[in-house]
Amino acid sequence: MTRTEKLLADLIALPSVNPAFATQNVASARRASPSKFGEKNVADFLASIAAKAGLEVEFQKVLPFETERWGETPGEPVCASDHPGSRGRSPHQSKETVFRSNLIVRLLPRNKIRQTILLAPHLDTVDADDSQFLPRVKNGRLCGRGACDTKGSVAAMLSALCELANAKSRPNETEIIFAGLIDEEHAQAGSRALVRSSAFRRLGQSATSPDRLKSELQTTLAIVGEPTRLQVVTAHKGSVWLQLETRGKAAHGAMPWLGQNAVREMAGIVSALETDYAARLRKRKHLLLGTATVSVGTICGGTQPNIVPDRCVISIDRRTLPGETETGVTREIAALLRSKSLSVKIFSTKLAPALPLETNPKLPLVRQLLRSIGQVKPAGVDFFCDAAVLAGAGIPSVVFGPGDIAQAHTTDEWISLASLERGRNLLLDFLKSLP
Ligand SMILES: [Zn+2]
Repeated sequence: MTRTEKLLADLIALPSVNPAFATQNVASARRASPSKFGEKNVADFLASIAAKAGLEVEFQKVLPFETERWGETPGEPVCASDHPGSRGRSPHQSKETVFRSNLIVRLLPRNKIRQTILLAPHLDTVDADDSQFLPRVKNGRLCGRGACDTKGSVAAMLSALCELANAKSRPNETEIIFAGLIDEEHAQAGSRALVRSSAFRRLGQSATSPDRLKSELQTTLAIVGEPTRLQVVTAHKGSVWLQLETRGKAAHGAMPWLGQNAVREMAGIVSALETDYAARLRKRKHLLLGTATVSVGTICGGTQPNIVPDRCVISIDRRTLPGETETGVTREIAALLRSKSLSVKIFSTKLAPALPLETNPKLPLVRQLLRSIGQVKPAGVDFFCDAAVLAGAGIPSVVFGPGDIAQAHTTDEWISLASLERGRNLLLDFLKSLP
């Protein structure tokens, strides 16, 4: 096993499930080991590796997180009815508040800082069962939760940075920052906090000033780690989540003519979205991203067969192209449904905006990265990530990392070991090429 492979295996064995997914399944969260949720274990582990390599390490507190600890030492029994088999063992629960923190690792240049490269993968993963936290090597693949999304990028980026820190020749004027971000899989609290902090605001603010918009003066590039099959990605779609609600009038199911059926109204809306609206979106094309899309994700209406339902709610996922906004999307859906005499209320359900990404591929640092990797044209991907948050704050951002998004969030997530190693080497070569 190479160092990077070993690092990735260690990271998989340290679960860092986003705590947002704990509340969705309380029973499984209780059964799980208390350390399954939160990025702390991974961040601490990476911090110790970085410190050993002589890098500057700090944490940025982002969100408080209450962990539950279950023990069998004497204490007040709680939820006794949930644990019928535990009589006499006196299980007890104690709560401890810890902070979920971004990990910031810095390699300073020998001379004055003239440019900054930000390596920004996320540390959290989606949920998994316990077997997925046991890393396994099989047929040239490393399997386990987070292997490609996105602990593979974490391992490739940090191991490249540690090697660079101890290399004979390293950049004299380029500052390199590794930012292990929390909460990408849920509401991107990590990247949103990062760009709000004064240390990082300087990178973004100046980038939006008229001078810095001139591409030749670009002095910052964020490389956000996500599985892109080692393609430099300069564009991704945004995502808008909306809830649509129809209202009707309840009546006895034997006399439906006395009521007004909210589910039937919604059936017309679902059909209009999936046919007319989807067709309209297919005509809207982006060179790197293809078309915008709409998908009806959930539907809920009515209470029992013999009541005419007076309410129905659907949720939709609308993937947006650069230039499209939530307000614009809401307006066009409302107008389409109005034109078909369908009556609906529309609500936004995203905690925070998930905007599309479109970075100018002609920016000098982007061109240099493309050249260094041997890629002729930039690529685009469908999925949203932290890059849009950083770019929204004025930090030019691309997405790059080993592994394939097709394996992300699957029950047998894996990464090709060849891709992992190549990703680390490509990053190291690029960083070494900087002044
Ligand atoms: Zn993911």
